[in-house]
Amino acid sequence: QAKEAGRNIYRVFTSDMEITAQQQFHYEAALANAIKNNEFFLQYQPKVSCETNEIVGFEALIRWQHPAYGLISPAEFIPIIEKSNLIIDVGEWVLSETTRQLAEWRQQGLPLVPIAVNISGRHLHDQSLVPFVEHITQKYAIRSDLLELEITEGVLTGNTEQSIAAMKELKETHIKLSIDDFGTGYSSLSYLKKFPIDILKIDRSFIGECDSRNDDAAICIAIITLAKSLGLQIVAEGVETGEQLAFLKQHECDVYQGFYFSKAVAAEQIPTLLASVASVTTS
Ligand code: C2E
Ligand code: MG
Ligand code: MG
Ligand code: MG
Repeated sequence: QAKEAGRNIYRVFTSDMEITAQQQFHYEAALANAIKNNEFFLQYQPKVSCETNEIVGFEALIRWQHPAYGLISPAEFIPIIEKSNLIIDVGEWVLSETTRQLAEWRQQGLPLVPIAVNISGRHLHDQSLVPFVEHITQKYAIRSDLLELEITEGVLTGNTEQSIAAMKELKETHIKLSIDDFGTGYSSLSYLKKFPIDILKIDRSFIGECDSRNDDAAICIAIITLAKSLGLQIVAEGVETGEQLAFLKQHECDVYQGFYFSKAVAAEQIPTLLASVASVTTS
């Protein structure tokens, strides 16, 4: 097992390892049983206001804890399950766990802030998504605008018209929509105004050196300006240093996420974080 740089998450197979068909088979079978065996769990990364430095939301990030393989990163297993309808089961599990968690925090009297969930292209384009969102928000009596779906830009470039239709249907439930990893997917800018989205997330690859490289700085400024002119909230991901944050504040980015404030944390740590949140929503 190889440790991913800077994180306590492991890869089962390293890229220079030859994987036998049998190993691959066992691995995929283990993934198919992971929901049933309670091996998935969520961590939550705070989203922080650039203006007030307060937590304004969280992003739910899935992790897989396998008894033999150990703790495995979604960057490794999500691409595998995206190849089949298993991604829909996993997406539903994440949506339902997030909504249940919101209801639990409300029960504890905590102020609620929106939680963002990552949704794969296959799930976005599946007819079951809208009814599922309606079902789960009703089941836990959670306002649907407390849920946000993040869709990576790459998903929207292929079947653009189909994506717009799916997103419009979703918006009727009042759920929030955002484009994730923006700037990496070559989406046509003219389409951006046609997507019924609320939030744009600047990809981490532009943030890393935004305070020191002119080209990355220019791209960040352009994306922030674009988002603002379209009336979208702008979020920077992967903020690791005070210098990066200072740059983003100077250029009036709305919200940031990153190791500088906090990595994704266990659900048990959220009540302490939420207790300091000022903007209280009670339903
Ligand atoms: P993403 O949605 O763009 O999530 C951001 C990733 O960047 C997360 O990695 C997060 O831990 C990491 N990150 C956050 N701040 C920093 C930072 O300051 N520096 C660095 N170097 N990294 C930072 P993670 O949790 O490994 O997730 C990787 C990707 O896996 C996510 O990228 C998302 O595309 C996918 N993913 C995660 N959870 C889910 C899920 O529930 N469903 C689906 N479909 N995809 C998921
Ligand atoms: Mg995301
Ligand atoms: Mg992202
Ligand atoms: Mg990403």
